[in-house]
Formats: sequence, structure tokens, C-alpha cells
Amino acid sequence: MSIVIALAGNPNSGKTTLFNDLTGSSQYVGNWPGVTVEKKEGRLKGNKEVVVQDLPGIYSLSPYTLEEVVSRNYLINERPDAIINIVDASNLERNLYLTTQLMELGLPVVVALNMMDVVEKSGDTINAAKLSALLGCPVIEVSAVKGRGVKELVQAAIEAAQSKTACEPRHLFEGKVEESIDQIEAILRDNTPLSNLRWHAVKFFERDQSVAENVPLPNEAAARIESLITACEDALDDDSESIVTNERYTYITKHIKGILNKKSSSNITTSDKIDSIVTNRVLALPIFAAVMFVVYYLSISSIGGMMTDWVNDALFGEFVPGYAEAALESLGTAEWLNALILDGIIGGVGAVLGFLPQMLVLFLCLAILEDSGYMARIAFIMDRIFRKFGLSGKSFIPILIGTGCGVPGIMASRTIESENDRRMTVITTTFIPCGAKLPIIALIAGAIFDEAVWVGPVSYFIGVAAIILSGVMLKKTRFFAGDPAPFVMELPAYHMPRLKGVLLSTYERGSAFVKKAGTIILLACALIWFLSSFNGSFEMVDAEESLLASIGNLVAPLFAPLGWGNWKAAVATFTGLVAKENVVGTFGILYGMEEVAEDGVEIWSTLRADYTPLAAFSFLVFNLLCAPCFAAIGAIRREMVTAKWTFIAIAYQTSLAYVAALIIYQLGLAFTGGGFTPWAVIAAILLAFIIYMLLKAPYDPSNLKGRQAKELCQH
Ligand code: GDP
Ligand code: MG
Repeated sequence: MSIVIALAGNPNSGKTTLFNDLTGSSQYVGNWPGVTVEKKEGRLKGNKEVVVQDLPGIYSLSPYTLEEVVSRNYLINERPDAIINIVDASNLERNLYLTTQLMELGLPVVVALNMMDVVEKSGDTINAAKLSALLGCPVIEVSAVKGRGVKELVQAAIEAAQSKTACEPRHLFEGKVEESIDQIEAILRDNTPLSNLRWHAVKFFERDQSVAENVPLPNEAAARIESLITACEDALDDDSESIVTNERYTYITKHIKGILNKKSSSNITTSDKIDSIVTNRVLALPIFAAVMFVVYYLSISSIGGMMTDWVNDALFGEFVPGYAEAALESLGTAEWLNALILDGIIGGVGAVLGFLPQMLVLFLCLAILEDSGYMARIAFIMDRIFRKFGLSGKSFIPILIGTGCGVPGIMASRTIESENDRRMTVITTTFIPCGAKLPIIALIAGAIFDEAVWVGPVSYFIGVAAIILSGVMLKKTRFFAGDPAPFVMELPAYHMPRLKGVLLSTYERGSAFVKKAGTIILLACALIWFLSSFNGSFEMVDAEESLLASIGNLVAPLFAPLGWGNWKAAVATFTGLVAKENVVGTFGILYGMEEVAEDGVEIWSTLRADYTPLAAFSFLVFNLLCAPCFAAIGAIRREMVTAKWTFIAIAYQTSLAYVAALIIYQLGLAFTGGGFTPWAVIAAILLAFIIYMLLKAPYDPSNLKGRQAKELCQH
């Protein structure tokens, strides 16, 4: 018989760290709330009979956001054999609020006092035995990152699960409230087959609709419950939900004094000191800009850039093709196969893999920023700016995650309560350049702009600007109007990034990229090579006469106003839908073929001949902002649920990309004296429209209510 143990606790309390330690897996750990949005299952290392379940963080069992619902439904409906309640011991008081609720579920609970290393360092002490006596369940001190106390914890949880004895909540509410809950419990006992009566009684008392809905009661019983609640509310002059919340906090505050012994009387920590500079009203933005500048400088221009040059020129430019050519010759393979391998696979996949060093540096920097706790501050800083425009900084958390990969970024939108804000965030998340777009940035920077330092950071901030401007504009339409959700994210304490975690996260992302290069990108490159080497009647021809050229020439005129209306760029853009790395892979094949034959050196000079800097920049902007890859589109589809909203998202992204590239290219041309076309007029009008949307008054909320109601009825 297998045992199921669920890890439940507040966001950022260390659940995933513990989960990884227990199961040997490597789920994403980030030093900010809202990282785990789906539950994850694993088996205990050394005892495969024990199933461990990682749950999204929750502050209470009255859920407000989608991922909180996941946790609550799991605990209530699937009823694990035991719960390990992970408590951030350095934030004991607030974490115990959830604990008092978990105790009522009628399940065996073991409390893990995590982050004991932090507590000890601060000099505070916690009396675990006393806490255990207070709660009526085992309390084990652990440090998930140090692996301390984890064995004892698991042992206690397995014993608790096997004993099958549910925790008896020792926390009773005050007189009148407890009485009412008792009576509700009795009514439920007579009318339902429920097992965890106490928890249901409390939820009925709070008038939690989502719980009551699932418990059919005779009208008479429901009426009696309602009159009990009303009587209690009248007596205490407060609504029942607040009564319960207050009671829990009073209870914790009353008892915590004897359990938690604070050493320092002053509450100013090192984190607070760092934050007074880093989140300072004046300095915050320049610091953020400087940090991202350094990140992109390191990955694209300096360390990553040097390595990439070598990999591109020497490794995939000479060694690999040289050896492969010799090997193929000695094997005497057919000419078309040689071409496929040299031009298609090595040229295409090699061009993409060439950027691996740069990506690794980017991933390493991101991992350090994440683990140290700085990333969480970015969301906090952005909140201040967003709020001015009626947006919530919560929308920025998915975007932070999206800097690695858009798919988990889009999924992280589930932490946003307001449906309008959530949709808007799903639409804008992929504007931030993800890891896969880095090769495009690096290619353009290297080939066209002489590896100029500004290209990387500018690309990043174009993404940020696209998000903010979109947010402001979309908020003014009736689809997204509404007040910004309150942003209650607490800032995690700073700590030195942990080498193991940082390297693991870099490795995970890097190897995912290599895997992608060996599968999707390889296939796409083979296909691109095939289409660019043959014509309609399967004869091997020059690229210019190939099937791909004919297809590309059909769509290329679409992009002519953007300055890059040649078929190669058009095709590269489309292959980017499969995976963004393909843009570079396709260029590798289409521009590599001509000169690999000659001297086998880099493709950069050929690229430079085909694109002016302005056109290349417009190409870059379009590819940064347009519809993301299929994997991300799939994620958008899942989060948006309907095909209509998915379509709106893709259409908006692609239109914005087009408009931005058009404005940059056409007005750029006009201002630099490069020529003036009718398109410049259209670009100017579009720019004026964007400015109008930015300055326009917000959508009239009095109208909004009626419309929303109507829309609700239609659903
Ligand atoms: P979750 O949101 O509950 O899944 O929390 P995570 O496992 O993602 O961890 C949040 C942050 O807390 C990460 O930066 C971890 O490295 C850190 N962390 C987790 N456990 C400990 C611990 O025992 N001690 C310290 N100092 N940090 C920890
Ligand atoms: Mg987690």
C-alpha cells in the first residue's frame, strides 16, 4: 500500500526545495512567491511506496487565486494520508495562520519548521516542543536547503500516515463562536455523510460558497445554520468571515510569545538595509536598468560573446564541417546526403548551438538574480510604476519567469486574481525576450552592429516597454478595464545565491535547449534544407530557385514595408514559430550554403551585405514581439481556455510587432534621410494613434458594470 504525503504551506516557504530533496527531482525553485502553480508528484528516494505531492503555496484555505484552488481542492477531495505543513520559521506568526486551518481538515499533520538556519543565524529561538503541545501534532525543525532534519521529518510523516489518526485541532474559538460552530457541526452530522465535519462547519460558518455548493442540505437545515451565523454576527458585530480570521490571529498572537523568543529588539534586518537602496524611489529604476544591462552585457558581449565567437567560427565554422566533410568523403556518401549533413544539419543546428555559451551565461545570471531575491524586487519596483497606469505589479511576476522561457511564464499568470489582468498578462508575457530569442539578438548584434554592447539591453527594454505600453493601452479598452488588484507580495529575504541551486537551474535550462536543438530544431533544419535545395519537380537547384524561395517570395512582400522583404528573412520569421532558435538556424542554412563551399567561414559578412542596420533592427524588433513559438502558443491556449482569446492574443502580439517594426523602419528612414515612402505616412498615423491611446481617458466604469453583467449572462 502506498502512502501519499502532501507538502502544504505558504508561498516561498521552501516546499519545492524540500520536495526536490525528498524525491531527487529538480523542480523549479525561485526565491519569490508564485513559482509552483501546479501540483507535482514524486516518489520518495529510498522508499518508492511513499508518494510526495508538492502543492502551490497558499496563505489560507479560503482560496482567491487559481493556484490556491488547486491546493485546496487537492487537500479536501483527494485527502492525502498525511500533510507535511511547511512553515517558514523565520516568519512563524504569519505561517501559523494556515496551520490552524490545516489542523481542522481531519488529516494527520506534521509541521516542518523550515529555514531554521535563518532563525538560528538571527539569534532567535523557537520552542518546538511547546509549539507541538499547543498544536497537538509533531513539530520537526528542518532546513530544507541544508538537508537538516529531513530524515526525522519524513519518518514522523510516515508514522502519522500509518497511524491514520487525524489531528484533533486544539485551537478552539472563543465562546459564542465555538458554540455556533459546534451546533453547525451537529446539523451537518445529522444531514450529511461528511467525515471532516469540523472543517466544513467552520467553512459553513464563514459562508464559503464554494464549499457549501458541494454539500446539499435540506432547506430547513440550511436555514438553521444561517440563523446561527446571523445571531453570532449580531452578537459580535462583525461578519462571520472576519470573525474567524480575527480569532485565528488573536489565538496565534496570544500563544506565540511563549514559543518564539526574539533576540533582536530592532526589526531592521540586512535585507531591509539593502532594500532601502535597491527599492528606493529614485534609485530603483536606474539600478534595475544597470543590473539588466550587466546581465546582457555579460551574456551577449563579454564572456558569452567570446565563447560564442569561438564556437561559431572555429568549432562549427571549421573543425566540425572539416572533419564531417572528410568523413563523408571517405564513406563515399551521395552528394545530396553530404549537403544535407553539412549545410542543413551542421549549418543550421550548428548555428543555433553556437549560441549555447551565451545562453548559459544568461541562465546563470538569471539564476543568481532569482535565488538572491533581487528578481522579486523587480516585481515590487514595477508595481509602483504599473500602478500609476492602473496595472498591478503582479503582472510582472510571470514576465520575470518568462525571461527564462515563456511557457512557465504564461502559466504563472494563474497567481493573478482579476480575470482581466490575468488575460492581459498572458498576452504580454512573451514580449520579454526569452532564452530562445537570445540567439536572434546575438546574431543581429554580432553580424550587423559589430557586437555593439547596447543591442542586448535595448532588446530587453523594448520588451519591457511593449509590456507597459500594451498594459496602458489595453486597460483603456472595455475588455481589460478595472481597478488594479492589490499587490500583496511580500519580499523574501536576500541570501547568497547557492552554488548548487544556481548551477542546477543553469544546467536544466541549458540541457533543455540542447535537447530542443537535437529534436525540433534538427527536424526543422532538415526540412528547411530540403525545401531550399529542391524545386517543385524534385531537382536539386540553387536556393534562389528552390521551393522555399517560391514560398518565401509569396509572403515576403508582406514584410517589405518593414525593410526586410526578402524571402530568406520571411522564411526565417515563419520558422521561428516552431522554435525561436530556428530563426538563426534558418539563416545558418540559407546564408551558410553559399560560402561554406568557398572558405567555410562565418555567415556574418554575407548577412551584413543583405540588410541595412535599420532593416536588421526592424527585423529584430518584429521577431522579439511577434507571436511566440508553438509551445508558448499552446500555453496561451491553455490559460485562455477559449480559441477566441487565444486568437486575440496572437493577433495582438503580431500586430504590435508589425506596427513597431513599421514605425522604426519607416520613420527611421525618413529621419535619417534614407527616403520617404507612403508607408511613412501610415507609420506616423499609427504612432499618433498609439500616443492617443496612451493619453486617452480610462474606459468609463459606469458603462462597464452593465456590460460586464451582460457578458456574464451570456456565459
Ligand atoms: P516554495 O515556494 O514553498 O516552493 O519555496 P521554494 O522551495 O521555491 O524556496 C523558496 C526560497 O527559499 C528559495 O530561494 C530557497 O532556496 C529558499 N529556502 C528553502 N528552504 C530553505 C532553508 O531551509 N533555509 C534557507 N536559508 N533558505 C531556504
Ligand atoms: Mg514551489
